Parts: sequence; structure tokens; C-alpha cells
Amino acid sequence: MKDIAVVTGASGGIGRAVAKKIHEASAGALRLALHYHGNQERAEAVQAGIPDSFLIQADLSTSAGRQDLLASVLKAGAPYILVNNAGIDRPHEPALNVQESSFDQLVNVNLKSPLFLMRDFGKEMIRAEGGMIINISSVLAHKSLVGSAIYRASKAALEALTKQFAFELGPRGVRVNAVAPGFIETPMTALLEDDMKVQIRSEVALERFGSPEAVAAAVCHLIDNDYINGAVISVDGGMAL
Ligand code: NAD
Repeated sequence: MKDIAVVTGASGGIGRAVAKKIHEASAGALRLALHYHGNQERAEAVQAGIPDSFLIQADLSTSAGRQDLLASVLKAGAPYILVNNAGIDRPHEPALNVQESSFDQLVNVNLKSPLFLMRDFGKEMIRAEGGMIINISSVLAHKSLVGSAIYRASKAALEALTKQFAFELGPRGVRVNAVAPGFIETPMTALLEDDMKVQIRSEVALERFGSPEAVAAAVCHLIDNDYINGAVISVDGGMAL
């Protein structure tokens, strides 16, 4: 059986590009497990473009969903790569109007899910004597944008966990890193109002938005370079400067 590369949220803009790039870079050595939640049509379209890949549907905001994902992957083989990409950025709420329900929603998907997937997939990788985990953070872990209080906190905490897991799993053969994208053109950012896009663009030193493929290239760099552990690579065109 081939080792498995798991990409969560593979039906989304960044997840699709990451899965495709890992498939191409591994030249068939790894089998892609494409996780999705909702939008089955888009997930099937992604799968159609990646030979030998398979789909797993799960709501990763729940413990049951995370367990389903792990069980489905283990049926197919040993997980060698986990990319914690699934994430949400809404609701957008000004700091003085943040709601507890929004906190639960955002933190469950953006923080709790990658935390417990790192724990559970990390154990399997150690059992298989090696593996790597890449978490998709955000430029907003490093800078402010009105309406992003909880999202920002969830991504900043994800970067802290990346370093903690890198420290504890490194000696056991598992590297853990993160990529912090800036404004990338995906279904998530397509929903933003035009004036918001103009404002964000004015904060990017390169004066343009990024592509999902640029994020995927950074993920593959972290996979390839076996001496990078606990790092966060920014792919933001200089938005955090
Ligand atoms: P997207 O909306 O295109 O994809 C998000 C994916 O997450 C989808 O596949 C969706 O099904 C999945 N998802 C959402 N809720 C889920 C749940 N409860 N359980 C399981 N899966 C769930 O967004 P994207 O732009 O491709 O974002 C991917 C990642 O990149 C996210 O973590 C996001 O925070 C991060 N990011 C994106 C940008 C950007 O500009 N697009 C910038 C910085 C960080």
C-alpha cells in the first residue's frame, strides 16, 4: 500500500492547489486523501484531476468527524503527510461585537480541528517512523484587520501549536511547519466586498493578490527540505510588513 498524503479542505481554493502540487511532486509515490465538507461537486472535480486520489467527507469541527477522517485514511494506508488546510474566516465582527457563538465556530474549525488532528495523525506517523504536518495559518496571525479578532487569534494560536508540536514530535521523526498566506484568490476571498479588497490590496507591498499555487509551492518546499522544523513561511506579497 502507498503512503497517504492527507489534505483537509481539498475542495477549497488553496486545498485543491496543495493536493495537486503534492501529487505532481511525489510522482505517484503518495496517494492523496482529499478531505472535504459540503460541496461534493467541487470535491469530485478536484478528485477527477488527481489520479489514484480518494475523497473523505467529514465535518472537522466535531470529534466524530475527525475520527471518521482518521479511520478512513488508515483503511487506505499509513499517513505520511497531513496538511491542515480546512478553515473558515467568518463571521467578520468588530472587536466590540464579537459573539461567543462565533468564537466556538471559528475556533472549532481553525484551531481545535488541527490540534487534535496533529495529535492523532502525529501518533500514526511516529508509529510509521516518520511523517510531516503542515498547518495553513494566515497573515492575519501577524497583523490587524477590522472584523478579524477571533480569526486572528485562532491562527496565532495555530502557529504556537505548530512550534510546540515541532518541538515535541521532531525528536520522533515528525516535522511540523506552517504557511501563512496573505490575500489569496479563492472562494473564501471572492465573497469579500469590493471596497474591502481595494483596502487589503493597498496593504500588500507587491500590490497584487496571490495565487493558491504560490501557497502550494511553499507547502512543497516545507515537505522537501528535511531540516525545516517549527517554521512559519509567509506567502503574502509583503502584506505583513
Ligand atoms: P475555501 O473556502 O476555498 O476552502 C476552505 C475549505 O475548508 C473548504 O474545502 C471547506 O469545505 C473546508 N471547511 C470549512 N469548514 C469545515 C468544517 N467544519 N469541516 C471540514 N472542512 C471545513 O478557503 P481557502 O481560501 O482555500 O482557505 C484555505 C485555508 O487557507 C484556510 O485555513 C484559510 O483560513 C487559509 N487562508 C486563506 C487565505 C486567503 O486569502 N484565501 C489567506 C490566509 C489564510
